[in-house]
Amino acid sequence: MDQILNFLSGGFLHLTWWQVALVTLVITHITIIGVTVFLHRSQAHRGLDLHPAVMHFFRFWLWLTTGMVTKEWVAIHRKHHAKVEREGDPHSPVVFGLGKVFFRGAELYRLEANNPETLKRFGHGTPDDWMERNVYTKHSLLGVLIMLGIDLALFGVLGLTVWAVQMAWIPFWAAGVVNGVGHAFGYRNFASPDTSTNVSPWGIIIGGEELHNNHHAYGTSAKFSTNGTNSTWAGLILKC
Ligand SMILES: [Zn+2]
Ligand SMILES: [Zn+2]
Repeated sequence: MDQILNFLSGGFLHLTWWQVALVTLVITHITIIGVTVFLHRSQAHRGLDLHPAVMHFFRFWLWLTTGMVTKEWVAIHRKHHAKVEREGDPHSPVVFGLGKVFFRGAELYRLEANNPETLKRFGHGTPDDWMERNVYTKHSLLGVLIMLGIDLALFGVLGLTVWAVQMAWIPFWAAGVVNGVGHAFGYRNFASPDTSTNVSPWGIIIGGEELHNNHHAYGTSAKFSTNGTNSTWAGLILKC
C-alpha cells in the first residue's frame, strides 16, 4: 500500500515541483521547435530541408505531444497565407473577431482540418509513408494517450498537470497567440497586405513565431528575424 501511494505521489522520478516545472518547460519547448522548424518553416513553406532522421523525430514527437497531423496543419496554414484576412482564411481575427480566434482557435483549426477540399488543395508534399498512413494519421490520438501514461509513470499524479500543460501549449501559443494576437497587437516592420504583427522582438518563448509580421512579409524565408534583432532556439538550429 505504501509503495503504491509512494509511486502515485512522485512516479519513477520523484522530482520536486520546480524540477517538474523545468522539465515541462523543456519538453514544451521541444514541441514549439517541432512546430516552427518542422511543420511551419520546412513542411508548409519549404524554407529549409531537414535530415530524414530529424524529420522523423519531430513527426514522432508531435504525435506524442500534440496529436496534430502534418498534412492538416500544413494545409490549414498554407490556406491562411493564401487567403489572409479574407473569406476562407481559417483563423483571421478580421473575419472572425479577435475573441473567437484567441479563445476558440483550436476549434477553428479542427473545423478546417475536417474540410477535405482544404487538405486536397493545400496539403500536397507532406509525408505519406507507412507510418503516416497506419499510425500518425490513422491513430492521431493514440500518441497523446501514450504521453499521458508516460507522464503519470514519470511524475506520479503531478503528471496529469504536466500532460494538461502539454496539451494546452500549442492551442494557446499557436492557435491563440500567433493566429490571434499576431494579427492584432504588436508592431510592424513591413507593410504586408494583411494585419500581421510582431508580438515581441525576442523570439525566445515560441521559437521566433512571435515575429509574425516579418513572416507574412517573407513567407518562404526560413529565418524570421531581421537584422539579427532577435534570437531564438529555432534560429540557433538554423544558424540565424
Ligand atoms: Zn498569419
Ligand atoms: Zn507561415
